[in-house]
Amino acid sequence: MALIVQKYGGSSVGDADKIKHVARRIIETQAAGNQVCVVVSAMGDTTDELMDLANQVASRPEGRELDMLLTAGERISMALVSMAINDLGAKSLSFTGSQAGIITDEVHGNARIAEVTPDRVAEALAAGNIAIVAGFQGFNRDSKDITTLGRGGSDTTAVALAAALNADVCEIYSDVDGIYTADPRIIPTARKLDVIDVESMLELAAAGAKILHIRAVEFARRHKVNLVVRSTFSTDPGTVVISDENGAKQMEESIVSGVATDKSQAKITVIGIPDVPGKAAAVFTTVAEAGANIDMIVQNTPTGSDVTDSVSDITFTLPKGDLKLVLDALAQNKDVLGYRELESDEQIGKLSVVGAGMRTHSGVSAILFRALAESGINVEMISTSEIRISVITSLEQIDDAARAVHKAFDLDSDSLATVYAGTGR
Ligand code: ASP
Ligand code: MG
Repeated sequence: MALIVQKYGGSSVGDADKIKHVARRIIETQAAGNQVCVVVSAMGDTTDELMDLANQVASRPEGRELDMLLTAGERISMALVSMAINDLGAKSLSFTGSQAGIITDEVHGNARIAEVTPDRVAEALAAGNIAIVAGFQGFNRDSKDITTLGRGGSDTTAVALAAALNADVCEIYSDVDGIYTADPRIIPTARKLDVIDVESMLELAAAGAKILHIRAVEFARRHKVNLVVRSTFSTDPGTVVISDENGAKQMEESIVSGVATDKSQAKITVIGIPDVPGKAAAVFTTVAEAGANIDMIVQNTPTGSDVTDSVSDITFTLPKGDLKLVLDALAQNKDVLGYRELESDEQIGKLSVVGAGMRTHSGVSAILFRALAESGINVEMISTSEIRISVITSLEQIDDAARAVHKAFDLDSDSLATVYAGTGR
């Protein structure tokens, strides 16, 4: 008998009919001779709606109370899915994250899973039940408080449970048929991948592909959990994310697996900073102390005859939400840092091209930059890893850039991708 962990996203349990549909699907999986543990997200846009409510009653809701509030979303869907299954004649029990043994650190709003002790889930499964677990939430032993794993965190719950229960597979259900070469909402000709290696998936998730939560992919890689990404609304077998090295070696490595875009970043340029050792360190210490996570960094090299008292510019990108905080922190330290002025831009987009085959193929950058040039797209910043190239363009041009690059790497398919529901999760 196989043990399958299934995770259903918010759009899959968005209303009563969808919950009944999911319940039937879960029962079919059990009837096929499997033990089934299910992780659910909150219904539809519940989490956003609860956030809105919190912001209406308080200007700075406390992390502890926010977590109490937001975890209610998953608690609603877990109970409803369980009831629907029972109503159809199968046996089911639901569990909160803490009942399921998801033990985390004490960071409210972005807790990390420290340990998983799924004894109650295992007992329920052994007794022939389908176990339904509320995603996105955990419990800290020291503070004895409820925590959440960050937006989109139910994927991580599912992978962590799959690892702890030693499941045969972890299936992540959403409203698209699998992992595509690009977001089908931006590029309708995006092609579904049958398999992808976990390293490429990790880079795609980091580059802004929203199909899987990045921490879930990291967890899957570390614990060698086999993931399958598929749709709640079709029987398509989906995309297999191969986590074990032997499996990945057997795959024929595609030069480019996909193109991802990220519209959530802003950039700051520190202009006219003295070009002496220690200045970059001082700038990024200020940024780190403000609590921001930066992504790309570019420093131009000063040119000219008098290099000794020359100045340079440092540009970096960061989440839009951290922009104001970081600008304030840099402004406060203007005298110490010794720069001339600050510039910022929220109208940027990041485009990334990812593929394990880049390790061994040359000419990938040439294709990328030619495609951008032919479409008249100006590149503002560039960064690379072994299997990724990312560029910053204007926000206005980012979707066109993605389409041009997708085409240039021959990723377009003849048919249009199917998107079954609306929100992407
Ligand atoms: N409901 C939470 C969110 O929307 C967690 C999840 O969907 O994975 O972020
Ligand atoms: Mg959600």
